[in-house]
Amino acid sequence: MMTTKKMIEDLKKQNPRDIWVCKECGSEEVEEKVWASMNDIHILNGKTYQLILDSADDSFWCTRCGKNIEPVAFDKYIKKGDKNE
Ligand SMILES: [Zn+2]
Repeated sequence: MMTTKKMIEDLKKQNPRDIWVCKECGSEEVEEKVWASMNDIHILNGKTYQLILDSADDSFWCTRCGKNIEPVAFDKYIKKGDKNE
């Protein structure tokens, strides 16, 4: 499959409110275990994209904390921070 201009535009449209962060440190470097297609793979701007079919389990990882964490939406993390100050 070819990479289209629309695919590139769609990637740029990610809303900041849709970004997940680590509940503990606020890092965007969070990962989750998934089931991914072994054959539906695309390379775009040097990055590899693989079709995600489903969550593997509720296992989330923060590379900054170096452990399993609970992710929260970015805007909720900011609101939580405001309450503490
Ligand atoms: Zn973290």
